[in-house]
Amino acid sequence: MTITDAIAEPLPRAVIDLAALRHNVSHLAALIAPSEVMLAVKADAYGHGLLPIARAGLESGATSLAVLEIPAGLVLRGAGITVPLLAWLHGPDADFRAAIEADIELGVSARWQLDAIAAAAADRPAVIHLKVDTGLSRNGATIEEWPGLIDAAVALQEQGVVRIRAAWSHLADASIDDDEKALGEFRAAVAIAEERGARFEILHLAASSAGIRMPEARFDLVRLGIAAYGISPFDDSTGADLGLVPVMRLEAPVTEIHVGGTSHARIAIGYGDGVPTLGIAKAHVAIGGIPRQVVAVEVDSMLVEMGSDRVRVGDTATLFGPGVNGEVIAEKWADWAETIADEMVTGVAQRVPRVYLG
Ligand SMILES: *Cc1c(COP(=O)(O)O)cnc(C)c1O
Repeated sequence: MTITDAIAEPLPRAVIDLAALRHNVSHLAALIAPSEVMLAVKADAYGHGLLPIARAGLESGATSLAVLEIPAGLVLRGAGITVPLLAWLHGPDADFRAAIEADIELGVSARWQLDAIAAAAADRPAVIHLKVDTGLSRNGATIEEWPGLIDAAVALQEQGVVRIRAAWSHLADASIDDDEKALGEFRAAVAIAEERGARFEILHLAASSAGIRMPEARFDLVRLGIAAYGISPFDDSTGADLGLVPVMRLEAPVTEIHVGGTSHARIAIGYGDGVPTLGIAKAHVAIGGIPRQVVAVEVDSMLVEMGSDRVRVGDTATLFGPGVNGEVIAEKWADWAETIADEMVTGVAQRVPRVYLG
């Protein structure tokens, strides 16, 4: 037997707690001071929504923003945000002219980028952050390319075409030993650049992980991403252990009750909304504060076991959240799905409305 009550707009939603975001940013800003917080808002602020997160982060201690690609920086400028912005992922058709006019600082990993930026700098110098690869092999000049990149940047600075603002790199965050080694390589690369006449206004290396556990990697600023969203960058601790509060809660209404041998509830969220299909044998959602085993995930809905207590159409099922009401945290669901919590929050589909609190 199937009981289906019509409920108005059975929509899933991602509830974004801006007070939690503010708490996390100010907590982490205090931890890393006097280094500053550059809040990473790439990938639509890890799925939390670019503009609300950027504004809340700037209200609570972040002094600059990291956006990945130039178009996201232009959106922030269009919304009236005036703090320093850093974009570093540039395809061959990147609009460097627009970036320079909008005062967006540019990460430079390769000679072709430097040349294209120099060609686009018209009435004012492009502000650049020179990136060296310290073992991650995910963009950044190799140590062989670094001296040539430095010489070219110094020459362009003398012509007034660029302003060298920073040297930077990105850590793998795999282990403390690897990060220590990369820190040594970064220092060596900075020394090589200085011997060749480069002067850096700032240096930056750490993201959330090293920003929290490796004080010597903080330099002038920490590019803080996942931890600001209340998610631990470490396998052996939760956000709560670090004094952080998860910012996103993913929930959806119950739309149908199937009564039978085992009774099931259907929930209006599925893999088309970003729910992983992997690991469902372990996964559960909370309804009325009680965990319910997931049975199936379909494109726009999922089925869970009801248990003996009553579940009604219109009740709210919570997939993950702050972990205070019977629901799991995003890290837990990521374990079930054999992924990382970054993907759980960033993977919530655009069609799922973001609802802001605080
Ligand atoms: C994503 C990203 C960050 C933030 O990383 P988290 O681990 O989420 O804190 C910092 N720097 C760069 C270059 C990034 O791509």
